[in-house]
Amino acid sequence: MTARIIDGKATAANLRQDVAGAVATLKADHGITPGLAVVLVGEDPASTVYVRNKHRQTLEAGMNSFEHRLDASVSQDKLLDLINTLNADPAVNGILVQLPLPDHIDPAAVIDTIEPAKDVDGFHVVNAGRLATGLPAMVPCTPVGCIILAKQVHADMTGLNAVVVGRSNIVGKPVAQLLLNENCTVTIAHSRTRDLAGVCRSADVLIAAVGRPEMIKGDWIKPGATVIDVGINRIPKDDGKTRLVGDVAYDEALEIAGAITPVPGGVGPMTIACLLRSTVEATCRQNGLEPML
Ligand code: NDP
Repeated sequence: MTARIIDGKATAANLRQDVAGAVATLKADHGITPGLAVVLVGEDPASTVYVRNKHRQTLEAGMNSFEHRLDASVSQDKLLDLINTLNADPAVNGILVQLPLPDHIDPAAVIDTIEPAKDVDGFHVVNAGRLATGLPAMVPCTPVGCIILAKQVHADMTGLNAVVVGRSNIVGKPVAQLLLNENCTVTIAHSRTRDLAGVCRSADVLIAAVGRPEMIKGDWIKPGATVIDVGINRIPKDDGKTRLVGDVAYDEALEIAGAITPVPGGVGPMTIACLLRSTVEATCRQNGLEPML
């Protein structure tokens, strides 16, 4: 059996359309235009591409996009001053500081300074705590994208065994939390897990967020399982160029899984779409309106 391919590109396009519809309603009915501020420090090539895409898609959704590009040598105090200015600006509903930051800046101090209600990345400890205790929260975008894709296969995930490989604060832990909220039985695996292959084989839903190219082999997957591959790894090709692969050995997994996300074209496109959704959600909350998406 060949697995169903979960199309993240199409799903993200649909979500962006829904976001644009919600933005149009906010403008027409309430005179509100959501605004997203993105701060980029330095010129990391991957970050520059992400920020450019975020800017374009924010404008396409009908929102205001405020880009702040700072020199790599900017002091931490200057950066925190900018965040405080954005916190106080009523035209800014969401604030995102692109990671990674240069070594002389402490990312925790930066995240801590963002007003939790505007923390569209969901990394602030207040939002992490709210998510963990079941309160309404700003939730990290990539994990939300993973759940939306998994729910295309399992509208009701109650009782499924979910295994998350990876325990980072930005993907592994929040996605595990969201799976718990969906009533899955959740296992979080990491670099110290014993018999990782066996743990993965117990999963009805396997989420790979490791950052190691094609580490999860076909025979680690339970026949018929749903596989969500978060990994984005650039590996060399024979012709000297590079290509993107996930954390899952895709060709092997395709023959065993029931459904799988490709890389590229799976989780990746969902992240910005979910960021736009988060910005609309933040705007609604800040204006005392019910969430629209
Ligand atoms: P981190 O490096 O922060 O975390 C990786 C996790 O994988 C850690 O918890 C680590 O365990 C675990 N791990 C590493 N090696 C092994 C191993 N051999 N066996 C089992 N577990 C292992 O990565 P991120 O969570 O930030 O990202 C993960 C992947 O997702 C990356 O490829 C990244 O590029 C991609 N990504 C994609 C996004 C998207 O938009 N699609 C967004 C964010 C990330 P331990 O804690 O024990 O060290």
